Amino acid sequence: MAAAKRSFSLAEVAKHNSEGDLWVAIDSHVYDLSKFVNFHPGGKSVLYDEEIAGKDATEQFFSLHRTEVLHRPAYKRLIIGTVEGQSQQFAPAPPGSISRVPYADPSWLDPAYSSVYFKDSHRRLQRAFRVFCDEAMIFLSVYLIPDALLREEDGKPPSPSLLEKMGELNIHAMRLGPGKHLKGLKLMGGIVEPEEYDYFHELVITQEIGRHGTRGYGDGLSGGLPPVINFGSRELQAKVVPEVFSGKKQICLAISEAFAGSDVSGVRTTAKKTPDGKHFIVNGTKKWITNGTFSDYFTVACKTDKGLTVLLIERQPGVETKAIKTSYSSTAGTAYITFDNVKVPVGERLGKRKPGVRSHRNIVGQCLVWANQRKVFGKPLMNQPVVRAKLANMIARVESGQSWLENITLQMCNMSYKAQAEHLAGPLALLKMYVTRAAQESAAEAVQIFGGRAITKTGLGQTIENFHRAIPFDAVLGGAEDVLGDLGVRQAAKKIPKNARL
Ligand SMILES: Cc1cc2nc3c(=O)[nH]c(=O)nc-3n(C[C@H](O)[C@H](O)[C@H](O)COP(=O)(O)OP(=O)(O)OC[C@H]3O[C@@H](n4cnc5c(N)ncnc54)[C@H](O)[C@@H]3O)c2cc1C
Repeated sequence: MAAAKRSFSLAEVAKHNSEGDLWVAIDSHVYDLSKFVNFHPGGKSVLYDEEIAGKDATEQFFSLHRTEVLHRPAYKRLIIGTVEGQSQQFAPAPPGSISRVPYADPSWLDPAYSSVYFKDSHRRLQRAFRVFCDEAMIFLSVYLIPDALLREEDGKPPSPSLLEKMGELNIHAMRLGPGKHLKGLKLMGGIVEPEEYDYFHELVITQEIGRHGTRGYGDGLSGGLPPVINFGSRELQAKVVPEVFSGKKQICLAISEAFAGSDVSGVRTTAKKTPDGKHFIVNGTKKWITNGTFSDYFTVACKTDKGLTVLLIERQPGVETKAIKTSYSSTAGTAYITFDNVKVPVGERLGKRKPGVRSHRNIVGQCLVWANQRKVFGKPLMNQPVVRAKLANMIARVESGQSWLENITLQMCNMSYKAQAEHLAGPLALLKMYVTRAAQESAAEAVQIFGGRAITKTGLGQTIENFHRAIPFDAVLGGAEDVLGDLGVRQAAKKIPKNARL
């Protein structure tokens, strides 16, 4: 808050309650709204209301606005002093803070809880990365509006300055998990050594991003680099990997087609070798490709005469991307892509997604706070057993998802890639099915708790609106939940001993 100029009693504030002379007190500060009243987005009459004009309007303010509104410079300039005998109650938490709202953060971040999974280096990374997200994701800090929200509005990709800042700290590289691609890199300014970086570090990064960004914005930050790292030639890696890690170039994974979604074997995009055997000529289409609109590189599944192959294709004449208008998110860059006689060197032939528990947790935290804050029929929503029952289900879903996720992450840390494929494909498929289904149930309950605010893209319900709009698609992208559930059970069925009897 700006340095307060004077101190006023509430009796003094009360004298300024008319047109041309309008003061209100909010959270211990006195605001002169005499001129602002003409610009108030919610209209004049609400500010001249006898419960507000010349009064302490703290409760009314917070029933209509998010806390950060008070901290925008344009509104801070309206402060003329403080209220005698009052102190500020609702200051925003400093960057990097752990939430004090129960269940709004995973239990391993609560000092009262212990965890066998998260060690010092995970905690160091979490602290540093949360400060980074809280500070860097805020656009120009003058507006105090997260980059994610602005990009949701204008449909652009994450701001280049943010992508490059993430590149400097090697965050794009860390998002791909542990592996040889981290060798020699300074991670988050040196806070974690590449050799000690494991899947729990990756989980920390994924969940911290999930905590902040809107759903599609976080997707736009990811891409089709793993096949390049795992199967690309040395030359290809030397060119592409640094460009993507630095945040200067974008990449996407283009598998699905209008004719081939769940059934990848139905891919119709063809890659035919030229007579000299040095190039492929690619023809076909791809659909629903996240980040495709903004991408410089495309990791593309194609059909050859020897079966399916994956090629890295650079944007060039013959590659066209069209934005698909979705109800999901404009900043995810969802694209329809066409390849018309695109020539790709044969050397550019190439040989996962963490389920979103964190964004689910976000809405649980917000529902807890809102149910406590919102008064209807003269009492907080939290006093209604039916609302508490919804919250109980939401908490149980998010906590069980997190525990399962941590358990599987531990197995990933201790299994070879081959063993992971053998033992974890089924459980991972079931986990993805569970968390996407559970999140949809919680999204519906959150809408109920937030009422009309849950359909507004800004203001109190903005997080709920985004979550409820985008979450059904989580159950489709990266493997439809029915298909994954079925895969998990079929894998388990294969392992049931032939002589098992009840
Ligand atoms: C927001 C979003 C982002 C995406 N991003 C990408 C991307 O970056 N790259 C990419 O390549 N693709 C992407 N996709 C595409 C996604 O992978 C496909 O939508 C998905 O694989 C399902 O394919 P489909 O939509 O063609 O559905 P279909 O294959 O037509 O299936 C329709 C439904 O039928 C059911 N079903 C199908 N087969 C079975 C079965 N065997 N058993 C039981 N039920 C079944 C499932 O419930 C499924 O949802 C994205 C999709 C969305 C919605």
